[in-house]
Amino acid sequence: MGLTGLAIFKQLPKTNCKECGHPTCLAFAMALASGKASLDSCPHVSDEAKEALDSASAPPIASLKIGTGDNELTVGGETVLFRHEKRFENMTGIAICVSDNEDVAAKVDDINKLFFDRVGQTHNVNLVAVKNDSADAGKFAEAVKAAHDKSNFPLILITEDPAAAEKALEVCASGKPLLYGATSDNYEAMTELAKKNEVVLGVRGNDLNSLADLVEKIQELGYKQLVIDSGSREVNKVLADQTQMRRQALRKFRPFGYPTLTVVENDDPIQAVADASVYISKYSGIVVYPSADPAEILPLVTLRLNIYTDPQKPIAVESKVHEVGTPDENSPVFITTNFSLSYFCVEGDVEAGRISGYILPVDTDGISVLTGWAAGKFTPEKITDMLKETGMADKVNHNTIIIPGGVAVLSGKLEELSGWKVMVGPRESTGIPSFMKQRWNA
Ligand code: SF4
Repeated sequence: MGLTGLAIFKQLPKTNCKECGHPTCLAFAMALASGKASLDSCPHVSDEAKEALDSASAPPIASLKIGTGDNELTVGGETVLFRHEKRFENMTGIAICVSDNEDVAAKVDDINKLFFDRVGQTHNVNLVAVKNDSADAGKFAEAVKAAHDKSNFPLILITEDPAAAEKALEVCASGKPLLYGATSDNYEAMTELAKKNEVVLGVRGNDLNSLADLVEKIQELGYKQLVIDSGSREVNKVLADQTQMRRQALRKFRPFGYPTLTVVENDDPIQAVADASVYISKYSGIVVYPSADPAEILPLVTLRLNIYTDPQKPIAVESKVHEVGTPDENSPVFITTNFSLSYFCVEGDVEAGRISGYILPVDTDGISVLTGWAAGKFTPEKITDMLKETGMADKVNHNTIIIPGGVAVLSGKLEELSGWKVMVGPRESTGIPSFMKQRWNA
């Protein structure tokens, strides 16, 4: 958001009609400047003002959508160089590459299985990239059709041959694939195809200068649904290009104001994972990866989760009674916080000990046990409230709860407030199985 509230106010009708839900045009302008309102809420803004405000308020990197329905992928929309300045907005899309020379249906079957559970969330790859290695337009279209029919994910069509692109789009344009790509040799035809089919166009340069020139030419043709690739394939060069493009985009150098695409070309799986990790860490909107091996993809989705988690919002689980195994009235009740990592450590160790029990993650705004205690968010009062709200007294017959060993100091007041007997558990959740054998069973 580049404009101040006052600058926005100058473009508004100033009738204070309230139809936008704000008492005055000035209040609406202020809300717009702070990102709390959308320009669409004012039905009276003129087309000229809309154009001026739209371009001034557009993020430095365009936000684009690829695909349709539940698996539609949003890329770009980024506003910062470093995550801690605010947050990264849209996770890097991971595309798995399939050659039109291989068994497309079989590989797409493998790609469709690439779903992983991490800290209570499901993570997956996002795109299938079909590559025209055969240089045969008919064969490419067949491969694209097979992928389109089978894939759970949107497609990337990797070809620089407009004839092959046209045939492929005939079978999959409804799925809104990414057409990649336009080069200095074919950009007019490719832009025409992208426009006609209303799909995002991938643009590949030979270096940053040629990429900027090419993007400007395509913009002059009236198309701005672009994903950009500097063309580099060596990891050090890609890293330099990615960094430069992000820096320039944030300075509003418009040719680089688009999500980027990088391609991993490395036969060594360990090196390929390392290359992709660099690209995910450094600004790639989409990474095209060669393998569908889960052992290679799992570290990438895990890294991506870490990089793209909002640093101001810890990942939290729902604060409710969680059951592990088949608990009954004799089962133990474990107290922890709703910080995902704390919760899943406890859950994993309860499961590992083959214990059926209840876990109550107290709402600490997603912070851990000791931090929550130090911040006054993991308190006897909150634990007592949760025991009451969840009706735990009706679920078990022993009136006993187990709290983390690190907060043993809570036990006295907690017993007093709640009326429950408090057992102080191990400091680390890994000690739960032996604690249960020695203390609970005794
Ligand atoms: S709807 Fe538009 S004109 Fe009416 S108060 Fe809001 S900003 Fe002003």
